[in-house]
Amino acid sequence: MESTTIANQGQESLHGLDRLQHIGNTPMVPICLTIKGRPRNVYLKLEGSNPGGSVKVRTAYALVCDLEQRGLLCQDSTILESTSGNLGVALSMLAQSRGYRFIAIVDPKATEENIAKMRAFGAGVDIVHQADETGGYLLARLARVRQLCEESPLYVWTNQYSNPANPTIHYKQTAPEIYQQMAGNVDAIFTAVSTGGTLAGIGQYFREVSPRTRIIGVDAHGSVIFGTPPAPRKLTGIGASRPSDFITNNLYDQYLLVRDEEAFAFCRALFDAVAIKVGGSSGAALAACARYLAAHPEIDRCVCLCPDTGENYASSIFNNEWLVQNGLKLAGGLGEVQEISLRYAHAQV
Ligand code: PMP
Repeated sequence: MESTTIANQGQESLHGLDRLQHIGNTPMVPICLTIKGRPRNVYLKLEGSNPGGSVKVRTAYALVCDLEQRGLLCQDSTILESTSGNLGVALSMLAQSRGYRFIAIVDPKATEENIAKMRAFGAGVDIVHQADETGGYLLARLARVRQLCEESPLYVWTNQYSNPANPTIHYKQTAPEIYQQMAGNVDAIFTAVSTGGTLAGIGQYFREVSPRTRIIGVDAHGSVIFGTPPAPRKLTGIGASRPSDFITNNLYDQYLLVRDEEAFAFCRALFDAVAIKVGGSSGAALAACARYLAAHPEIDRCVCLCPDTGENYASSIFNNEWLVQNGLKLAGGLGEVQEISLRYAHAQV
């Protein structure tokens, strides 16, 4: 199937804003993950190369186009969205280029880096401080969005949690890119989950074009998406305090839960080994991939979707003081799987 970039599809409506013409077609970088002496091929789909530094610019673009096509936005509209940070940055960029106001509803876990980016793009940032009954903030953020929507008809919610435009963009764009970059030969794909849009779109596409490809959902310990009990967590972007509206059992083969320390240890190890800086959910995907490979000798060509760049986490994951202050000890090495090493690979796809 042919891949088309979002930029190609929507060029007329982008008003010549160069930055947005580079959405999608992100690099696929091979690395070698040696587990118990055996080298394995892992391919990192680096979504941090997107404008705004994350996969969520694809989602933002799809959501805003959907509202426009349904005639729900006018020049006086203020777009609202609950966001862990990345979608907020992407929507701030898009809203600015399209002439809408935008308010991001965030919580105290949003990174300083992302909040600064949102403000630089002219967005309002509304921080919800009270955690909800699960110990997370998502339900509290959603309550705030609903409260604002009741206050004025000019507030319009993109609703990344249930708008089908979210998984559809990954079905139409992200997944075909992966398929083409891997020449149709993929044993397993590891995808971090929050709304579930990325997993659902990629899962649906691969079920159709390559049913043998295993789709592995990666979630944070303490998230309830796959029905596991709630608990506090430091990882951002990944996980949720409510189930996904998009994920159904047929779209994935298995889910794996990753702890904060394990994910952060993989972020740091990847940077030390190959100078690629990714965010916590990418570290979680890599940790899950290592664990899965250790248990599955028959698997070799794996893709880890890396949703954002580690540049968003200079003040957290890549800051030793922050790790100490938050009681996070990475000294134990790379999680449950021992004897792992990472290096560059020059694998052929
Ligand atoms: N990782 C990061 C860093 C994210 O920002 C998000 C989106 N919140 C995800 C993973 C999960 O993506 P999705 O909402 O499509 O499940």
